[in-house]
Amino acid sequence: LFITVEGPDGAGKSTQINYIKKYFEERGERALFTREPGGTKISEKIRTLILDKTNENMSYMTEALLYAAARAQLVEEIIEPTLASGNHVICDRFIDSSIAYQGYGRGLGMSVGIINGFAVGNCMPDLTILLKLDSDRGMDRIDSEGSKVRPKDRLESESMDFHREVYKGYLQLERDFPERIRGIDAGQSIEQVSDDIKAELDRLFEE
Ligand code: C5P
Repeated sequence: LFITVEGPDGAGKSTQINYIKKYFEERGERALFTREPGGTKISEKIRTLILDKTNENMSYMTEALLYAAARAQLVEEIIEPTLASGNHVICDRFIDSSIAYQGYGRGLGMSVGIINGFAVGNCMPDLTILLKLDSDRGMDRIDSEGSKVRPKDRLESESMDFHREVYKGYLQLERDFPERIRGIDAGQSIEQVSDDIKAELDRLFEE
């Protein structure tokens, strides 16, 4: 199985991915966990380039292409071979992040889907867990908790309008791909969110 976890900044992806790790361990299922942008040596270098705050004049198209390039490398080097060997892959962000952040947030629209279709080929997730939290609450969380853990990156420092557009993008994706994308209310308690994720994973394993 190929599973991706998506959501706006501050939705609690990292916490819930730790829960998913435990879920797979307890089931005795072998799963590789990776993240975007990153997950390979080349893709992590691209990540550093994209998130570097001194690159504030990076054009939106350059940014979109770099995300797609990092993704293409991850698909070829890690995701496809791992799935082919019979193991599961769980990825922190994937193509939907680009559609939401670059397509909606940056306003690049449909071209982002085209670039990324080229980058991933037919390597699409079986299930995408979308942690839903409106952008105002997400950014509040980053401001109150996140900044103590690490400094904000270039994208997290974007305007509220940008983050609102990103969230709109995610909600549109959820409507467009109801079979693949399962939205979960990330405003609930951590335990409740994990329970909802568990229900989705149980369902997937029963199929
Ligand atoms: O999920 P994570 O915090 O690791 O993402 C790193 C940063 O990259 C975040 O600020 C996220 O908003 C941004 N991002 C983006 N476009 C993507 C994927 C991530 O702007 N396609």
